[in-house]
Amino acid sequence: MPKGMFVDTSICTGCKACQVACKEWNGLDPEPEHFRKVPGTPYPVAFNFTGNSYDNTGKLSASDWRHVLFIEQINYRRVGSRWLFMSDSCKHCTDAACLNVCPVSAIEHTDMGNVIVRQDKCVGTKLCNKACPYGVIKFSEKTRTSHKCTLCNDRIHNGLGTACAKACPTGSISFGEVADLKARADARLARLRSLGEAKANLYGYSQAGGLKVFYLLMDKPEVYGLPENPVVPQRRQVSSLGTKISTLLAGIGALVTLRRRASGSVPEGERRETNG
Ligand code: SF4
Ligand code: SF4
Repeated sequence: MPKGMFVDTSICTGCKACQVACKEWNGLDPEPEHFRKVPGTPYPVAFNFTGNSYDNTGKLSASDWRHVLFIEQINYRRVGSRWLFMSDSCKHCTDAACLNVCPVSAIEHTDMGNVIVRQDKCVGTKLCNKACPYGVIKFSEKTRTSHKCTLCNDRIHNGLGTACAKACPTGSISFGEVADLKARADARLARLRSLGEAKANLYGYSQAGGLKVFYLLMDKPEVYGLPENPVVPQRRQVSSLGTKISTLLAGIGALVTLRRRASGSVPEGERRETNG
């Protein structure tokens, strides 16, 4: 039975415990410092802030596999204003664009339905980065490979839930079998609608063949930057000339990488594999 997550944004408080838990469990690089001491000044000086939100990581990256989106709907009268929060990550698509376009089959579905990047096979073409309709998967200059959430592949294959779901203090993120989670999501949507939340909606049942990580949203998907109809490139694009050339280059890249690994010229840190 496929596993996944239901993210109920209606009860997310934006605390970012999930984001921290993800970093900790997966050993991801920390954020740059936000304050530094300047000689001669009594207080630390702020830097490295986005400057447009209380959210200071801003987006998903090769070292931020989870990102809590802050949507600040504040009108100029500050009447009826609200903040929406959404803990975002890889959607673990059934029809996964990243997997479809990878010329060396480095991206795989596991037996539990989650999508993982095989770090030992990735040759860093970045084709998956461009193909993902959600802007999730990112290239790392440090490892020269692409990275994203694995749905805690190591944890779930050892009887545990995801680290983010475990850490969430409000129950906004639930891990489990997709069918059970959908039943819970349907009931929660009905409850919110009965309370007058007319804009509440479920996202992810139909997109990209069905997302194993799906969401209860409090406004239209576009408000959260989610496409109503994501475009998913298919394997048949391998027949295009551009992709054939990319495949050839990827093959050459793979040979170079393998030779570097064999000769020991790839630093140890670059060989680190995705957990699980
Ligand atoms: S959200 Fe993007 S990175 Fe994740 S499985 Fe879907 S296409 Fe791949
Ligand atoms: S831990 Fe839960 S409540 Fe806190 S930001 Fe993440 S999803 Fe929201």
